[in-house]
Amino acid sequence: MARTGFYPGSFDPVTYGHLDIIARAARFVDRLVLGVGVHHGKQALIAAETRMSLLDTVTRPIAAHTGVVIEVASFDGLAVDAARRHRAGLIVRGLRDATDFDYEVQMSQMNGAMAPDIETVFLAASPATRMIASSLVKQIARMGGDITLFIPKEAQAVMAEALAKPSH
Ligand code: ADP
Repeated sequence: MARTGFYPGSFDPVTYGHLDIIARAARFVDRLVLGVGVHHGKQALIAAETRMSLLDTVTRPIAAHTGVVIEVASFDGLAVDAARRHRAGLIVRGLRDATDFDYEVQMSQMNGAMAPDIETVFLAASPATRMIASSLVKQIARMGGDITLFIPKEAQAVMAEALAKPSH
């Protein structure tokens, strides 16, 4: 039976940390749906459609290399509802530090109470990408810093465009 995973996040922008989690999740799923959150009240720098097409572009090599089907979809409600809609039996999340751990474990337990049929699988961040956070990448970029170590070049172009808009 094919195993589908759902990996939700903001991906604003997608980083090498996310790509590490996606590549590693591809080892144990046949199909991975990347859920781009478009929640009301959560202001993103990059438009949802752009975050989605960017994710699609930068994950293509992983799909080609592993044979795993990688799909990108937006969602605006509960992750468990979106996971179910995409027929995913597990939710994938990355853990960087104790802050992630406390929040993620609590969330997975509440999700487990709501959807006992969906299991959350945590992957510990890899040492090389553990320090990367989209929020800090945005701060560094706003201050003119070099973000080439943290996000793929396709994402850098999108960031430059988003930051060039008058509202930023
Ligand atoms: P959210 O807004 O839900 O935190 P993010 O896009 O920041 O969404 O992150 C989505 C998921 O990716 C979360 O599980 C987060 O812990 C994980 N993640 C983010 N950055 C990294 C990283 N550098 N290494 C491993 N996991 C990460």
